[in-house]
Amino acid sequence: MQLDDEVYLVGSGGAGIGISHASDCHIYLIDGGSELALVDAGTGLGVNAILENIRNHGFALERIRYLFLTHFHADHVGGAAQLREAIPGLQVVASKVGAEWLRTADEAKCGLDMGKKGGYYEADYRLKPCPVDVELADGQIVHVGDLRIKSLDAPGHSSGHVVFTMEDGGKTYLFCGDALFFGGKILLQSIWDCDLQAHLKSIRDLSGLGVDVFLPGHGCFSLSDGQRHIEEAIGWMERCLVPPSIF
Ligand SMILES: [Zn+2]
Repeated sequence: MQLDDEVYLVGSGGAGIGISHASDCHIYLIDGGSELALVDAGTGLGVNAILENIRNHGFALERIRYLFLTHFHADHVGGAAQLREAIPGLQVVASKVGAEWLRTADEAKCGLDMGKKGGYYEADYRLKPCPVDVELADGQIVHVGDLRIKSLDAPGHSSGHVVFTMEDGGKTYLFCGDALFFGGKILLQSIWDCDLQAHLKSIRDLSGLGVDVFLPGHGCFSLSDGQRHIEEAIGWMERCLVPPSIF
């Protein structure tokens, strides 16, 4: 599904648009001209559908240079190893905090043990270990063809969560994973590394970004005036309240 001149939705689960496995997060494709990139990988249960969606848009897999990961929950990183195998030369890009958890498929650190207990994943679902080729520092810029993708640390929903901004055609894009959702909502979970204060600070740090295109990891996205979702969350915080949860 083409969202914009440079951005496509190539994976999305049952709670979203339903174009890959039911448990997948949104998976975005960025077209930087000479190079392409993906944002997030899904669970790995819908990789064939994701690859098919990419091909159906006329893109050769060989042009995809990077896979950017927002955080280490299985619905975002579970497909990383399979995508890296399927796409020649694909570089996996993720936060320095947590890179080792993906390399070693640490299901406890990635929250998958709790996710299984909570019934979100089958008991026999396994996180596949995947190399991380680029470990991101806060503010690091990675070029995808003509585009500059900037990583910003945004912990709170989980440790090692980052968001990515991109400027193009006078517009600011925000790929925000599970750091914030449509309507200023958030997702707090009873897992080891969910940290409310860090989460609220991460949202405050997005104030003033001037986001036009708001592209979260689940649910509805916005192709214009995306900053309103950030300001809505900050509005709750200014009233000494926690922004509402999506569940
Ligand atoms: Zn998550």
